[in-house]
Amino acid sequence: MRLVRQNDENRTKRTVVGGVRGALAVLAAAALAAGCAGTDSGVKGAHGPQALHAPPARALDSYASKLRVAQAARVAAAKRWGLAKTPLAAPPAPAKKPVIEARKGFEVEDQDGLPPVFTTIPTKDKVVFLTIDDGAEKDPAFLKMMSDLKIPYTAFLSDYLANENYGYFKKMQARGTTLNNHTLHHPYLPGLSYEQQKHEICGMQDVMRKQFGKRPTLFRPPYGNFNEDTLRAAKSCGIKYAPIWNEEVFVDHWEYREWDRSLHPGDIVLTHFRGREDWKGTMPDMVRRFLKKVTDEGYAVARLEDYL
Ligand SMILES: [Zn+2]
Repeated sequence: MRLVRQNDENRTKRTVVGGVRGALAVLAAAALAAGCAGTDSGVKGAHGPQALHAPPARALDSYASKLRVAQAARVAAAKRWGLAKTPLAAPPAPAKKPVIEARKGFEVEDQDGLPPVFTTIPTKDKVVFLTIDDGAEKDPAFLKMMSDLKIPYTAFLSDYLANENYGYFKKMQARGTTLNNHTLHHPYLPGLSYEQQKHEICGMQDVMRKQFGKRPTLFRPPYGNFNEDTLRAAKSCGIKYAPIWNEEVFVDHWEYREWDRSLHPGDIVLTHFRGREDWKGTMPDMVRRFLKKVTDEGYAVARLEDYL
């Protein structure tokens, strides 16, 4: 794809990029670089010799102004919620979804056709994914914070905790968060028979259909423990993926599956719906801890479902 844009000094800039995401990045960069002069130069460009090849100037300018407004809102929200730095904006969702395979060491003997268990998404994007489990703490400030900051996350609910207040999770769902399956009672699944596991997983699918209107396609085994029966049972009631995690964030520290203690593109980060009863702080405190490391290491938070 070729883009031609005339800047405010009437020079012509040609950029050849591959794919829509590259083009968007170039549009964004050009639009931001144009700054306040954007409108003038855009209009001149439309009448200049390159006009036939130029992208619609007004569309570009309105895109630039949208970006500026969005960025100003991010900065203000970050200040409001006491973040040290403004979180980075995630790139657009990939047009071509990555191929997800079971993580090495997490395959079962007969993996063919079963939901893969994985801890990262294969991507070069500098993004990580936030996943939040169980459902004990139901803090309204957390919902407001995540909406204000526009930080996506994915929830994995266990019914014995979610059933105390389905309404809280309905609000979460209405704000764009996908709710997923984390069993009825949070058992150690490999200690159960196939039938018992099926009850825990497929029973939760039924609860979610009834309470939230959808049967999830994502399932996370409690403690990250599973066997082949787990994956067979999950598959039997519509589960496609079994994401676990590569790092876990608490209110006061991080824990790592790997030695290097740094984030990697596509890492899935685990945390829990917990409050002062479980750890020394609130959900917003945990989010501040999470976003500090993510932003300091140059990552954005993306939506897991966009990569599946
Ligand atoms: Zn759990």
